[in-house]
Amino acid sequence: MIVSDAFRGKRYVVLGLARSGLATVRALVASGADVTAWDSKEEARDSALEEHRRSREGGSRLDRVAPPSESGPRLREGDGSLAIADPLTIDLTGFDGIIVSPGVPINRHPIADAAHAAHVPLLGDIELFAQARAGLPPHKVVGITGTNGKSTTTALIHHTLCSAGIPAMLGGNIGLPILGQEPLPQGGVYVLELSSYQIDLTHGLDCDVVILTNITPDHLDRYIDFADYASAKERLFTMQHVDKVAVIACDDDPSRMIASRINHRLHRVHAADVMDQTRWPSLQGPHNAQNVACAIATCTALGLDDAQIEAGLASYPGLAHRMERIRELEGVLWVNDSKATNATSSAPALAAYPVVHWILGGQAKTDDLDACAPHFGHVKAAYVIGEAADLFERLLSPHMAVTNAVTLDAAVVAARAAARAGETVLLSPACASFDQFRDFEARGDAFRALVEKLA
Ligand code: ADP
Repeated sequence: MIVSDAFRGKRYVVLGLARSGLATVRALVASGADVTAWDSKEEARDSALEEHRRSREGGSRLDRVAPPSESGPRLREGDGSLAIADPLTIDLTGFDGIIVSPGVPINRHPIADAAHAAHVPLLGDIELFAQARAGLPPHKVVGITGTNGKSTTTALIHHTLCSAGIPAMLGGNIGLPILGQEPLPQGGVYVLELSSYQIDLTHGLDCDVVILTNITPDHLDRYIDFADYASAKERLFTMQHVDKVAVIACDDDPSRMIASRINHRLHRVHAADVMDQTRWPSLQGPHNAQNVACAIATCTALGLDDAQIEAGLASYPGLAHRMERIRELEGVLWVNDSKATNATSSAPALAAYPVVHWILGGQAKTDDLDACAPHFGHVKAAYVIGEAADLFERLLSPHMAVTNAVTLDAAVVAARAAARAGETVLLSPACASFDQFRDFEARGDAFRALVEKLA
């Protein structure tokens, strides 16, 4: 784990004790910080405390959980301490930070007002990583943001660095929590996928390279408007020192606007720069051309040569739930693109296959499918599910055959009956999953399981 003197003697609140919250608690306590932790789920609180107790020698010098009003002693050792209390019920004055998961909607969660009133900053684990950097072996940081393509570009750069023999670690919205991992040796590269939510909780991350893949409307429930969302992403460049590198895919107006304001070393790239993708089986489609263009510019800036980059692109295995080929059954290809949670990210998947049976729906983010419209000609039939089923049925019926299947199971059965050899059944929902699934991964896993069972 990352242990840092930067946290010694400081006081933090950690709100949310899932995987990354727990890793944050462990790293802060091991660094000598006093942590007050909270999760709305009692089991999560209990297991954090239990783990902390077990980590203490023989369990004989247990921390006592001090209720907020009680200033009784908490046993301290050389390292930090853990107490459990709801931050909304305690005096936050004097805390050095409140660490929240990027999933907490800080535009409307009451913790934001409480933090503001007590003049305590809201932080994410990436900000803590930024504060710990000075004590780490010399290294580089690549930060990747954008509406779509972040995970692919992050994984691709990480893979290319590793295949060139450079120590590299994934972090941010992908991979394991960064504070829970062993620091990289000298010369290592941290490759961080940073959503706008994560950037909102980060204040001092000076990336050696920042990448912006694209900006289209998304997450507008968390921002005042589209400009506000775009400026959240732009902050990653604002935090950079002027001699650092910026890579921007200038294929949309908001990205071009941001590029026009960047002073430091800017590499403008375009999807069209990438002429031939035939050598890279897991990087098909125009959207991946954009991701590849960003990755090539970044790896070049990090000192890799053309042969090293080509080897990385050719051997990149792809990510689950992003145009993932599940199987071919009687000549029909089944593809899981569950990660496509908005219309813009479904569009390239529709473009990639000539005859598509399209399973879509869930929680709609916009009330249109305009971004997909140029590729409706590829869709032989649509199967709509979830909350958006009626809306999408109305939108698509003038253009194609539509089955209102309601559930994923029924959609798979209907598509199996209709699809012919040479065609593709594609789950690319253009929607969030939360109406019917825990997250996009659970939705993709459910689809894969259904498809693997088909006989
Ligand atoms: P993110 O991490 O930004 O959500 P992913 O790489 O996980 O991005 O891809 C999410 C979805 O967006 C996938 O369905 C994929 O097909 C699509 N996608 C990937 N890269 C791009 C891109 N550059 N532009 C548009 N859509 C993309």
